[in-house]
Amino acid sequence: MPLHASYLDRTFHIGETGAVLRAADDLSAVTDEGKALPAGTQVRITRVARHPAEGPETRVYAHACPVAATGPLGWISTGDLVGQFRNVTLRRIEPGPADDRFGPAAAWHAGAYLGQVPLIEIVNVRQKPRRIGLVVASAYTAMLSAAQADGVEFCLSSGFRSYPEQAFYHAQYVDGVPGFFKADRPGFSAHQSGVAIDIPVGGGETGPVYGWLAGNAPRFGFLRTEPTEPWHWEYRPDRARDALARGAHCDWS
Ligand SMILES: [Zn+2]
Repeated sequence: MPLHASYLDRTFHIGETGAVLRAADDLSAVTDEGKALPAGTQVRITRVARHPAEGPETRVYAHACPVAATGPLGWISTGDLVGQFRNVTLRRIEPGPADDRFGPAAAWHAGAYLGQVPLIEIVNVRQKPRRIGLVVASAYTAMLSAAQADGVEFCLSSGFRSYPEQAFYHAQYVDGVPGFFKADRPGFSAHQSGVAIDIPVGGGETGPVYGWLAGNAPRFGFLRTEPTEPWHWEYRPDRARDALARGAHCDWS
């Protein structure tokens, strides 16, 4: 399956409540006909779109075509597809100009601008697009497949962050805005180098998602690096191999 657009090779089903067709010129609105697609309809996704185009509320919409008939069905919310649209990859984001220090693909580490990195866009559990470093993406999707085979599902809540995005999270944290966790100063987060991902682990270290990650993530090059953040994992193959050799899944044990 192509890493940059994994939805193209798959079929999906409309979920229990059906799907209302969206207006092509305003995906947040339903069409005049208000036509609904019945639950269980099998579709292929031929295109995706983001609405609004930028910002924290951006969601991913899908252009769905029926498998059993000809002709396009139209635009739907990806939330209308039975659970599986989460974790699909949508596109590759190419590096920008070398001097674009604050652009969408500009990587930082320890306060210094590293350069541009290719990214893969991926869908989170709320139908929101997230970005993940290209070097991390194939390891992450391989890890997902292995987890699914074991009956464990998870999703990213955060991946790569640009400098302006990290500045936003840091400001929200400093201001004590509810729902925003500790976030490093812009330029200093591992989420800006492309190797860090956050995976919600409901139940913390005692939950099934954490249990699976603890037993398996190092095999895929991931390990925990923040003692107070069970959701934060980094793709560091050398350190993960060392952890695996000592039967650990954390950097510090
Ligand atoms: Zn994190």
